[in-house]
Amino acid sequence: MADTKPVRGRFAPSPSGRMHLGNLFCALMAWLPVRAANGEMVLRIEDLDPGRSRMEYAMQMEDDLRWFGLDWDEGGSSGGPFGPYYQSQRTQLYEECFSKLREKGLVYPCYCTRGELHAAQAPHREDGMPVYSGRCRHLSEEERAKLSQHRRPAFRLEVPNREIHFTDGYQGSCTENLARDCGDFIIRRSDGVFAYQLAVVADDGEMGITQVVRGCDLLDSTPRQLYLYELLGYPAPQFYHIPLMMSEDGRRLSKRDHDQDLGFLRSIYHSPEPLLGLLGNRAGLLERPEPVTARELVEEFRKKPPAFFGVTECEKARPQFSTL
Ligand code: GLU
Ligand code: ZN
Repeated sequence: MADTKPVRGRFAPSPSGRMHLGNLFCALMAWLPVRAANGEMVLRIEDLDPGRSRMEYAMQMEDDLRWFGLDWDEGGSSGGPFGPYYQSQRTQLYEECFSKLREKGLVYPCYCTRGELHAAQAPHREDGMPVYSGRCRHLSEEERAKLSQHRRPAFRLEVPNREIHFTDGYQGSCTENLARDCGDFIIRRSDGVFAYQLAVVADDGEMGITQVVRGCDLLDSTPRQLYLYELLGYPAPQFYHIPLMMSEDGRRLSKRDHDQDLGFLRSIYHSPEPLLGLLGNRAGLLERPEPVTARELVEEFRKKPPAFFGVTECEKARPQFSTL
């Protein structure tokens, strides 16, 4: 029998500033395949970090997405069957997942400070963090009790010494050995906030997400997340990591680049079609950057889904092009 389950995709922005063109490109590339497959689109607000998230940015994001014609079937302020769609309101789920991992005996407290971690003689990962040595893994109960008097620990998940393999829809075949390349990783911070890695898997798992399209900067998180899918018993989605947009001088766009933020761009373009044309052209969907609507891009996507450069190794996944 044919698989009749609908494609479920999502856009999962962090409301820590106004969206920029790179964020919009991600949203568009997540939205197009869902609409092209008559699937369901979810908007989840990743406001996990209370220090960096603001509700007004989340509301502004909804307005920006709508302005471009990118709609969603559930999530954000409209809610839906898998709500709430704000990570700040989903901590009970994260607690449950955390307990489940603890019951498996795979979680331990880590008392290392940032300084200690960086001072360690360990190879560094791409995100600048050293591979964790497992220093706190074998502390005795007495040592833990003693350290707890002065410090609140973070919690780490023990990782296996085996290859985790996946095929990214755009980047091709990727492999990582978490023990060698990452080390035991944090699933709950010392201030009690659950880590992105845990929350994103719990949410995508519970929300029945079947495809994840997001920036290449998260490619190296994927093996950790696949391990969590396995432990928590959720089926893993298909991943698609897209190239990041870069600024003129070759940096990653950040929310501080106001000339790329949607407030500025909306004020000079007045309508979404020229910007969608540029993004459609960047994605290889349009031969020329001529004005289009989001719906017209869906038709182009149906005809010819982008292949993204044929990069086949995780390590080669690098931002590939610049912005306007
Ligand atoms: N909230 C993350 C971000 O804005 C995206 C998470 C994801 O797509 O997995 O960078
Ligand atoms: Zn430690």
